[in-house]
Amino acid sequence: MSHCRAIEIVRDMQVFIRVFPYVRRYPLLAFATLFCALMGTLMVVVFPAVTQQIVDQVIGKNRPELLLPLVGLGFAAFFAQNLLNSLRIIFNNHFEQHVIFDLRSELYAHIQKLPLHWFDNRATGDIMTRLVEDVTSVERVLIDGIEQGTVAILQIVIVSALMMTYSPLLTLAALSPIPLLAAGAMAYTLTARSRYRRQRKAVSELNSLLHDNIAGIRQIKTYTSEEREHIRFDATSNKVRKETLTVMRAWAFYQPGMEFLSSAGLLMVAGFGTSQVLGGRMEIGALVAFFVLVRYLYEPVGRLHQLNQIFQSGRAAGDRVFEIMDAETEEDEGAGALCEPIRGHVVYQNVSFSYDPKLPVLDDIQIEVPVGSMVALVGPTGAGKSTIVNLLVRFYEFTSGGITIDGVPLRSMSRRHLRHNIAVVTQESFLFNGTTAENLRIGKPDASEDEMWEALRAANAVDFIRRLPEGLHTPLGERGVKLSVGEKQRLSIARALLKNPPILILDEATASVDTSTEKLIQEALDHLMEKRTSFVIAHRLSTVRHADQILVLERGRITERGRHEELLSHGGLYAELCRSSLIEK
Ligand code: ADP
Repeated sequence: MSHCRAIEIVRDMQVFIRVFPYVRRYPLLAFATLFCALMGTLMVVVFPAVTQQIVDQVIGKNRPELLLPLVGLGFAAFFAQNLLNSLRIIFNNHFEQHVIFDLRSELYAHIQKLPLHWFDNRATGDIMTRLVEDVTSVERVLIDGIEQGTVAILQIVIVSALMMTYSPLLTLAALSPIPLLAAGAMAYTLTARSRYRRQRKAVSELNSLLHDNIAGIRQIKTYTSEEREHIRFDATSNKVRKETLTVMRAWAFYQPGMEFLSSAGLLMVAGFGTSQVLGGRMEIGALVAFFVLVRYLYEPVGRLHQLNQIFQSGRAAGDRVFEIMDAETEEDEGAGALCEPIRGHVVYQNVSFSYDPKLPVLDDIQIEVPVGSMVALVGPTGAGKSTIVNLLVRFYEFTSGGITIDGVPLRSMSRRHLRHNIAVVTQESFLFNGTTAENLRIGKPDASEDEMWEALRAANAVDFIRRLPEGLHTPLGERGVKLSVGEKQRLSIARALLKNPPILILDEATASVDTSTEKLIQEALDHLMEKRTSFVIAHRLSTVRHADQILVLERGRITERGRHEELLSHGGLYAELCRSSLIEK
């Protein structure tokens, strides 16, 4: 058990140590916050002293002329204390927001560098929760920890020292519940971690489910599975309720329990103090002042308990944030190495690959694609067509064999350089929320309007873009105009044309569009493939017919290769696919 506790404490420290570098960047804000907090705390000594003087001097010795100055002094002290508090809150907010911004920005940068297989195994909602909510919790550990913790401890020290000057015996009575309070805090802390972890996890699950169901709302509606999904949602939401209640239940016993111990201390002071005054060993003014002081003693103790709660939730959030930070990014080992212009002679040599070591996906793949030629990949779904092209853009790394472009091994090129030279046009053309121009400029950030129109013309997209209310500057996507599948596809072809890379990967859409749209898209694609090395995951006869070579894939192996007529006469799977219209006429 003690070993476990030691580990827990080390873990606590780790969150501190890891957040500290972010906090250290703002020494001025940190100093200002702390300074205001300390000065504000010092003001607590004034009111008890004023009270004592009022009781002993103004009332006891009947000196009414002192009343106004004493009240004035108390007024000034309270004013200064709260003014300092205002400043402290302002500084603290700025400090916090800076640190949250930095932490979030670094986390985001890190996430973008993580390899695709990392995303394969994670729910979007979970990543979002970590980035948006957990980051805030983590930062509070350090900033609130330092600020409130230091102030509370300082106040306890100042007030205890002041109490000693009034009466050491009463001070001991007032301090007597402190060891019990500390023990209570310890017990709470040691058990809190798992409660908070479970709660954070439940919140994350809820976000993930919500994200999924909103993205899949069309499926839910068409399968009329609203009720089932609602039940699933409620089940997850119920988990959040339960776990939150568990956290709160512990707090419900802990906080009042601690409050009770503090009150017991107050009663001890009342008992001992009164007998001291009755025995003539203490002035009544000193006792009244002492009562005021005791409040100032227990109040920061209460704040330390609150802090403990912030800590525990921050620690759980910290684990989740730093788990991402510790995930290994795609190292750009070739960065700064070869950035020669690429022409596009692609060779796969005995390439094998598996996403999961137990399930081989590609086996001994041999492909040679001369510069500017087109290869069509055909075969049943799941055969490994997409996987072959995924390896070329290094979304995943092949397990054995080798891939070269213009004779240069893929792995000795930087990923940036490589991806800069390849355009990928997928079945589901993804457009970002933004204007047409913004979506096009992803292909070429400095593209002029003329260049954009030229690309749109080649992609047969001029007509519908002209019809948009603000042309190139019309917002698209969730917050703007919705385009049809065919239109989106032509727009993404225009985007690839603007990028103008030597290598093209094209995943031909299987969704049927009407014949005239089909023709427009086909023309656009012909423009796009012109003079480029193209890998096409093909579903249409019109495409495969033109291919310089067709590769037929079955369960991760290339089983047939050649041109259309050769393969037809060969009478294998390809001929079968054509006959059964799996390749559309
Ligand atoms: P195709 O493009 O020919 O339909 P894929 O290359 O997409 O086939 O898939 C080949 C195999 O790899 C399938 O069995 C599929 O389930 C598996 N697979 C594809 N993507 C992933 C992934 N990200 N993680 C794990 N397995 C995957």
